[in-house]
Amino acid sequence: MFNLTKQQQERAKAIHEASLIVDTHNDTILHLIKAPPFITTETNPPAPRRSLGERSEHGQIDIPRIQEGGVNCLLFAMYVSPLYSARLRRLIQMLDAFHIEIEKNQDTIAVATSYKEIMKTVKDGKIAAVITIEGGEPLEGKIESLRTAYRLGARSLTLTHFPRNMLGDGSGADSGSHLTDFGKQVVEEMNTLGMLVDISHLNETGFYDVIEITKAPILATHSNCKALCSHHRNLKDEQIKTLAENGGVINLSFCAGFIKDGIGFGDPEAVKRVTIQDWLDHLDHAINLVGTSHVGIGSDLDGGCGFPDLNDVTRFPLLSEGMVARGYTDQDIQKILGGNNLRVFKKVLT
Ligand SMILES: [Zn+2]
Repeated sequence: MFNLTKQQQERAKAIHEASLIVDTHNDTILHLIKAPPFITTETNPPAPRRSLGERSEHGQIDIPRIQEGGVNCLLFAMYVSPLYSARLRRLIQMLDAFHIEIEKNQDTIAVATSYKEIMKTVKDGKIAAVITIEGGEPLEGKIESLRTAYRLGARSLTLTHFPRNMLGDGSGADSGSHLTDFGKQVVEEMNTLGMLVDISHLNETGFYDVIEITKAPILATHSNCKALCSHHRNLKDEQIKTLAENGGVINLSFCAGFIKDGIGFGDPEAVKRVTIQDWLDHLDHAINLVGTSHVGIGSDLDGGCGFPDLNDVTRFPLLSEGMVARGYTDQDIQKILGGNNLRVFKKVLT
């Protein structure tokens, strides 16, 4: 795929194996949870129910495939569609289902709630699972919901999904609004608790509000570069620079529609037009803007993302090969694979 020499291939393999690899976003819980109701439509039938421990021919992430891909730490997002009326209850169902899956597989995976736990879990040879909430809807406007979610293990919140919610505007419903008072309160409380503020999906005005409020580095857990793909979900160059000044990390997704213009969601033929070279172009672009210390990987696998070269978590070694092909040093590749996010985890997840 990259025309690497044998020596370069071996180098890529060695870097991959020596790195602590972090993937900051997936929607795998949506395929694991067995408690209905499921929000589906005729064109979006329910995904086959899977278990975390068994290799499946469906979907993109399970433990055997995580191990094959050499990934050590994953942020598992609990996404409650705004179509649910009982959102907090749905979040509780998801957290319950996720903890049960983890308990069933405790020899190979564990929930990690701090930087120290992440490092110890990986050292013990297990996968570190960090629980995140995607979209502030399940908080239902109450700060005690955030604190309780923290006590149940959540360590990150993506403030919005596509629509507007009680925290602010998602990029899909961008009215130019600032964060609401509740949104500002949530960011402050996340700083106090030690949670990772995630600005993926948030509108631009809200992003700058977060930057002004936060006392800790923040993450974009699954966003790409707007200069290369104009989707409203992507970050402008100025935002990427601001994120770097904050000490944060932009984690590049495998979502075909956020990598190349004109792809959209749910068109398998169009997705085939995206290659790993396109993903690497986003990496090069972000690094040209801010250097190698503020970029990482946030696949969004099992969330409707991926394309033939990167169609499941077993494909992660290709990222290391691609970075070798693009001329990055061993040290830079290790930072992009996980080191940059670990720096933020160490600061925030105390
Ligand atoms: Zn998302």
